[in-house]
Amino acid sequence: MISSPEHSAEPLPSLYDLDRESLADVLSSEPRYRVDQLWKGLYEDGRTIDEITTLPKGLRTALTDAYPVALHHCVERHSEDGETVKWLWGLRDGDGIETVLMHYRDRSTVCVSSQAGCAMACDFCATGQEGFRRHLGTGEIIEQVIHARRTALPRRLSNVVFMGMGEPLANYGPVWDAINRIHGDLGLSARHLTVSTVGLVPGIRRMANETLPVSLAVSLHAATNDLRDELVPINRRWPIEALVDACHEWVAAFGRRLSFEWALIDGVNDSVGQAAALADLCRELRAHVNLIPLNPTPGYPTIGTPMEGVIEFRDELRRRGTNATVRQNRGTDIDAACGQLRASQTPSPVRVASPVRRRAT
Ligand code: SAH
Repeated sequence: MISSPEHSAEPLPSLYDLDRESLADVLSSEPRYRVDQLWKGLYEDGRTIDEITTLPKGLRTALTDAYPVALHHCVERHSEDGETVKWLWGLRDGDGIETVLMHYRDRSTVCVSSQAGCAMACDFCATGQEGFRRHLGTGEIIEQVIHARRTALPRRLSNVVFMGMGEPLANYGPVWDAINRIHGDLGLSARHLTVSTVGLVPGIRRMANETLPVSLAVSLHAATNDLRDELVPINRRWPIEALVDACHEWVAAFGRRLSFEWALIDGVNDSVGQAAALADLCRELRAHVNLIPLNPTPGYPTIGTPMEGVIEFRDELRRRGTNATVRQNRGTDIDAACGQLRASQTPSPVRVASPVRRRAT
């Protein structure tokens, strides 16, 4: 059962909703340099308001009371190798979302949530199994990035992917505001920001008309409508032909390659026939394929394709002239890998940090 991709549940306003102009309005009765101090503290130095000691104590308290942060009561989990960190955040209305920080040799990437839950109902995805609760606001998205950037230090957070909970293009306005500000206020390059979508055609068209050349990933998972209707229910509304047309628009607008994400499910979408159909779609679009063996989730019994089959599928694509890579799977030991994010966790036997308050320092 798919609910409509546009919902009315309202996001909660929070501190990082305020852009520079709004901060200046808030501080209009203060000396002008206070705006610079607050801006620098929050956005350049990544401090909490309490830590911006250049501001008088009374002002800090007033600001904290009037403009609360969004993310609280964090449970932080680290993968065995220490290169992946996952946070489960409690929002002020009691809901929960997750954020994952991943360190690689050459970059650090944060995977952010754009909604609490998801309405797209893909059976194999833990977030889809939970259903939709509400959209996140711009500030709630930016705060995830700011927290990850601070934690990543001394490494530089260079990439943001909208591959956490939720369907970013079903929450277009706040997501795009956050993208503009992550680019403008936090200084990340637009190409290092990636929107991953299940295939909301109007959203992809809208992206094609934006000025920022943000990267696009489409979660395809099946290259024929009969199979995709089953795996990704929104395909019944926007079938592959409509999706491919929208992708062409995006490619024409930016002259860039998009990527298709493909979770390989044992005996379901790992056949030579699917590889052939996928290669046909990719040839037209010059798209790249990211393959990932399906990660286990509580509500979906079928397993991921064993690695041997993943390599065979990749090689089949390559033989057919398609650029395909097997994605490095991160964070499976802490349920932080693709499709494993859900707000209510059954703890796995790994290191679990005790809940800490975000601003307890
Ligand atoms: N709604 C967006 C973004 C969130 S999902 C989208 O669908 O793209 C991020 C990626 O994880 C998507 O490619 C999604 O299809 C994939 N994914 C979902 N469940 C998965 C699972 N169990 N194993 C591997 N990948 C999964």
